Amino acid sequence: MAWQNKRYGTVDDPVHKSHLNELTGEYGCPRRFKYQRDLEAEVAANPNAAERKPSVNGHLACGTAAHETIARALNNPRVRDHLLRVPGATMEELSTKDQLESRVRATFSHELRVAADGRDIDWGDETPEKMISSRVDMIVGTLGTLCKYVRKVLAVEPGFVVELDGVYYSGHIDLIFEPADTEPGTVGLADWKSSKQKPDPIELAHGWEGGIYSAACEHGTFLPRECVRVERSGDEWCGSVPLCTVTGDVVDALVTAPSRWQAERDALERALMRVAQGDCSDKQYTLGKYPTRVYHVHMRDFVPYEKAGSKEAKRPEDLVYYGLEHPATVKYIKGHMRGPGWLPVELRANDVARLAYRARNVVGTVRMGRFFDLVREHCRRCPFKSDCLTGGYAPRGDDLVQLKTEMKKAGLI
Ligand code: SF4
Repeated sequence: MAWQNKRYGTVDDPVHKSHLNELTGEYGCPRRFKYQRDLEAEVAANPNAAERKPSVNGHLACGTAAHETIARALNNPRVRDHLLRVPGATMEELSTKDQLESRVRATFSHELRVAADGRDIDWGDETPEKMISSRVDMIVGTLGTLCKYVRKVLAVEPGFVVELDGVYYSGHIDLIFEPADTEPGTVGLADWKSSKQKPDPIELAHGWEGGIYSAACEHGTFLPRECVRVERSGDEWCGSVPLCTVTGDVVDALVTAPSRWQAERDALERALMRVAQGDCSDKQYTLGKYPTRVYHVHMRDFVPYEKAGSKEAKRPEDLVYYGLEHPATVKYIKGHMRGPGWLPVELRANDVARLAYRARNVVGTVRMGRFFDLVREHCRRCPFKSDCLTGGYAPRGDDLVQLKTEMKKAGLI
């Protein structure tokens, strides 16, 4: 059955933050979004239609492995307390930067194998060692700077569902924490990002991520990632979350997927959709607080410079980082970090109404079936390009009348 675009944004088919980027982002394309949702609907109806690719993209695999490595560090109470410098929690074996780097590299290598799941990794134009080393630097830098911003870890990668202005959104948040510089009991959010470009502050403040995550903190329902059971099922992975229905029956929110990571994410989302429909889990919770701090963690700031140089420091966080009052040229040397990494997202509670309105407009175009194509350089890498770029068009109005007339004349209809 084809994907039902008219039901998009309902509790049966919540909006993901990534969808909004797929529709409106720099590399987005509404037509590709439609192809992708149709494919997912086909796979959901017939799991055998899922194609297990022979190789996995190196950037994607490294991104998954980096998130998993950070999550493992933060879910290990000893490591977490050491990183947060909880008094008396020092770990001798992680006391130097080299020791932390060696442990991160070992965990990352393991997680990379898990992400590849027996497939080859397609490194494209990059060398594996360079890409792996830069990811290790990013993780070490993120973990090493954690104590400056985080007093207490509250949740690592929990899933959420939230309703905003009649539209349902779901997703997960990389880290929810008690900020180091605000009152105990307040809440902060962090999103790990490994992209090359640092977003402009205006893009950060008005982007989808910060707004939807903040709204989830205030109004959403969460489920911890740990409530998902993931098992191998033949060539696939099966994710399940036990739930109690409104009639008191115990059921599992079940999904199968070609990758472990996907099965885990999809099962958590399926469970959240059921929770939004009235089922419940003994693990669900709400925060009921608008975050006092939101950070976009630009992890590439933690990849040290390879040689000396100079640059213009003008972003607000860079001025603070370099101790400047006004934009100025700063010099750096080999081994220096590129910036603070933790970029504050300037978003206030009363900005959420505007974000909800903007997102609702995007959802409206989907419900109306307005899937225009954005033909750009990115089409070269689009998995749907053979259908999209060679497909015909749907005749309408006079064109349609003329076409029908000609087809009748030719005895075709
Ligand atoms: S080929 Fe280009 S225009 Fe067509 S769906 Fe893909 S990204 Fe969009």
